[in-house]
Amino acid sequence: MSEQPINRVVIVGGGTAGWLTAAVIAAARQAQEADPTPPLSITLLESPDIPTIGVGEGTWPSMRSTLQKIGVSETDFFKACTASFKQGTWFQNWRTGDGDQYTHPFSPPEGYERINLSEYWAPSSDLDFDEFSSAQASTLKAQLAPKQVSTPEYAGVLNYGYHLDAEKFAAFLQNHCINKLKVTHKVANLVSIASKDNGDIDAVITDQADQIKGDLFIDCTGSRALLIGQHYQIPFESKKHILFNDRAVATRIDTSKANLPLESATLSTAQDVGWIWDIGLPDRRGIGHVYASEYCSDDQAIDRLDQYAKHNLTAAYSGPIEPRIIKFDPGHRAVFWHRNCVAIGMAAGFIEPLEASALVMVELSAAMIAEQMPPTRAAMDPIARRFNKKFLYRWRSIINFLKLHYLLSERTNHRYWVDQRASSTVPEDLLELLSIWQYQTPWHRDQEHVDELFPTASYQYILYGMQFKTMQNDHYRQKNKTSAEATLNKRQEYTTKLYRALPDHRELIAAIAKQGLPKF
Ligand SMILES: Cc1cc2nc3c(=O)[nH]c(=O)nc-3n(C[C@H](O)[C@H](O)[C@H](O)COP(=O)(O)OP(=O)(O)OC[C@H]3O[C@@H](n4cnc5c(N)ncnc54)[C@H](O)[C@@H]3O)c2cc1C
Repeated sequence: MSEQPINRVVIVGGGTAGWLTAAVIAAARQAQEADPTPPLSITLLESPDIPTIGVGEGTWPSMRSTLQKIGVSETDFFKACTASFKQGTWFQNWRTGDGDQYTHPFSPPEGYERINLSEYWAPSSDLDFDEFSSAQASTLKAQLAPKQVSTPEYAGVLNYGYHLDAEKFAAFLQNHCINKLKVTHKVANLVSIASKDNGDIDAVITDQADQIKGDLFIDCTGSRALLIGQHYQIPFESKKHILFNDRAVATRIDTSKANLPLESATLSTAQDVGWIWDIGLPDRRGIGHVYASEYCSDDQAIDRLDQYAKHNLTAAYSGPIEPRIIKFDPGHRAVFWHRNCVAIGMAAGFIEPLEASALVMVELSAAMIAEQMPPTRAAMDPIARRFNKKFLYRWRSIINFLKLHYLLSERTNHRYWVDQRASSTVPEDLLELLSIWQYQTPWHRDQEHVDELFPTASYQYILYGMQFKTMQNDHYRQKNKTSAEATLNKRQEYTTKLYRALPDHRELIAAIAKQGLPKF
């Protein structure tokens, strides 16, 4: 295999995936100024005609370090993307559909590194598991911010990610990439691909009669997957038999004149078929109904979303919503890196937005490419194999974790929920974990990798939020009783302290707009 150096990266697609990938790779290369390797040129090609998907408005806490690494100010980000804080997800009606609720906060349970508080909790406990184990569960429900205005950029009193305007975010990243990170921007439609004799991509050819040559091509063309799918014909593995949802109807509601609270969690409310997301930005709510076309028509979903807006956002509701239907096939490519082409974002796959795990996969993919950029073509294949192995495992983790939400539901009001629990639709490794968790709670020992996407703390929040019953381990309870009592007292004191110290979420967003956050 050739010793040809990898000097030219070509990214096709200018959605969040394309620009985030460009920024992560370019910033990592800039940070290695002393590195003797020749500079890497990064070109991003995007179509003037094909819009970005325009959704994807909830991030994980990982986005904080990603933004910091690419060198943007958090204050600028908040202002440019009309962003707000996200401290987790607040699930409603998932268990019985009868007003039940629980949260999955981003901070792990108190003392999680040394004590397993879930051993001391039972469905009959006074507090729900989230509030029993985590101060953040209480403060996020009270619409408190996760930090103070004096807390430096990217630091948090509590763990947090963001809610943001997807279109503004892509534009913000674009501006930073072009003006600060020296990314070359080309606006044209890719029309064909020129190949080398060995099957690698040599160049992408545009409708401007332009040939963009490269050594590594990154497919960020969204669900079109022009390079990995159309050109290389890498099979798409549908997961619809496990996770049925294949459509969303989305809309935005202007809240700038309504005095609505600003939630710092994504609200996720289960419906007869699927669920509704509700994301609060300072001036609007982005809401959407995710559903399965086999069980529910588009008109029914639109009607439900409209009813949701009418009843939950009454002060801002001004007549029937303007719906936008988005179709997707839940699943992912059989491999993501093939020859000198790697797919990121919707081109690699998409399952559904529950737990908002798509952008974090973009961040992780871009970070791994930046960190392990092969110096030559000969060094590329082993990195590609490693990348594929890692990301296939991550997709499996996402599928298992999302399926857990449906599997634990006791809802019976629609065939959709009953079918979700049919064992033929549940991955075997998830069934096996559940059978273990009947007699021992999820804990660090269940984690196969140090960098799991969903640590066992997340499994605890979902299992016990849904009132899952685990046999109590009396030996553990007795042995660690003093430590558990001290931790529970600490959680209570900490919650009280946070209530006094943390500002209201909307107030903090207004303060950031006015005076900014201190630099780190
Ligand atoms: C309903 C829904 C809700 C979601 N919610 C979340 C969430 O809360 N959190 C989260 O992390 N993720 C979420 N996602 C996923 C998230 O939206 C995407 O992962 C993210 O926006 C990245 O999309 P993308 O850049 O891969 O694709 P796109 O935004 O579709 O961008 C594709 C790009 O390719 C370009 N292109 C296409 N064809 C050509 C061509 N011939 N020539 C040149 N350029 C071309 C287009 O112009 C565009 O710039 C959600 C997705 C859906 C469907």
